[in-house]
Amino acid sequence: MASGCILDTCWVCDDLVWEDDWILYNEQFIHPACAENKTQLMKDKASRLHYEDEMTEDLQMLKRMLGSCQKEIERLENLIKRRA
Ligand SMILES: [Zn+2]
Repeated sequence: MASGCILDTCWVCDDLVWEDDWILYNEQFIHPACAENKTQLMKDKASRLHYEDEMTEDLQMLKRMLGSCQKEIERLENLIKRRA
């Protein structure tokens, strides 16, 4: 049973990394058991990076949409002001 302080969350399995069960892998705390299968480790990391790329693209698209909405709001507010 793991014990001691919690060092981090293992990015491979998402479980907590305890001070008596860790190794450093690319400057991050992970479980030794999670590091044994490096092929799976790299696939997982690539998958996560791909997911992060998708989230970044979604975020940029939402920001562009928000910018368009703000411009439309300003345009409509100016039209209303001119009528007043
Ligand atoms: Zn792990």
